[in-house]
Amino acid sequence: MKVFYDPVQKTHVLSHEIIAGKRFRHHERRARIDIIRRHLRANGQFEFIVPEALPMEAVLAVHDEAYVRFLESSQMLSKDEVIWPYVFPCDRRVPVYEPVTVFTAGYYCFDVGTPIMSDTWQAAIAAASGAYAAAQHLKKTGEVCYALARPPGHHAAAALFGGYCYLNNAAIAAQYLSQYGKVLLIDFDYHHGNGTQSIFYDNSDVFYVSLHGNPAIEYPYFTGYSHETGIDDGAGFTLNCPLEPHCGPEEYFEAFKTSIDTAMKKTDPAFIVCSCGFDVADKDPLGHFGLLPENFHSLGQIIRSLNKPTMLVQEGGYLVERLGLNVEAFLTAFL
Ligand SMILES: [Zn+2]
Repeated sequence: MKVFYDPVQKTHVLSHEIIAGKRFRHHERRARIDIIRRHLRANGQFEFIVPEALPMEAVLAVHDEAYVRFLESSQMLSKDEVIWPYVFPCDRRVPVYEPVTVFTAGYYCFDVGTPIMSDTWQAAIAAASGAYAAAQHLKKTGEVCYALARPPGHHAAAALFGGYCYLNNAAIAAQYLSQYGKVLLIDFDYHHGNGTQSIFYDNSDVFYVSLHGNPAIEYPYFTGYSHETGIDDGAGFTLNCPLEPHCGPEEYFEAFKTSIDTAMKKTDPAFIVCSCGFDVADKDPLGHFGLLPENFHSLGQIIRSLNKPTMLVQEGGYLVERLGLNVEAFLTAFL
């Protein structure tokens, strides 16, 4: 299986984050990439490819230009400068000019765990380039492939970053593929992909289906309820399946199969893009579905059995010591 990955993604280094007022070592660590690579290399059935930089049109097909220019301007920061958004406008109809300072970056942000540094833009572009290259490869060959994307993407909306995400890697891939046929975007990260939902909420070309922790008690809190089903042209093309933490693999798999079955009947996709969040793993510090490596293999088998051209994009997964094992168990189901 081809794995699209650019080492530039490792330049993005996050020190700490504040969750509910408490300070933690940041969960989105570059060691996540190292352990995945180590496992896939040792397995021997994966070919690593450094993607070419994606065209800016592919980014602008998903993200607003002013937002992209703002992210791009982070390259002007000095090496030790970090922008931590901490004030957020409630009325976004009011325009904000040049929001590139530590004080106004909250205009494009929705949480306090996602800082911007001088290396953020190039890491985000490298991750998005991997997803775009995977989409191109899928379109050309029909072969399943995987984008080892970091920073992750599914919380990033057209003009908002947050949840460790800046550019929506899976959405950029899905948008590209949707030019050639309907896309089913399956998101199994523990947290609702609020950014992906927002991007495709009024779009019937990409069906978004997500299983995640109940947003009443789990991040990102404000979206991911089952009554959110899309609007305008996209009405009926979003399917959210919130589940209670610790629901256990049996209930999880039943909900997974039912949701995917409903989505497949509604959309009959030409392509599947999968946002793969391994924070549904047992003992993950940020997720509580308790999936074991063999469960990830089964998850892969279910998606493979849909028998559609499929690409896989890395999202969350923060139990670093088990992440490589879990990703390998999932990916080998497609070989
Ligand atoms: Zn997550």
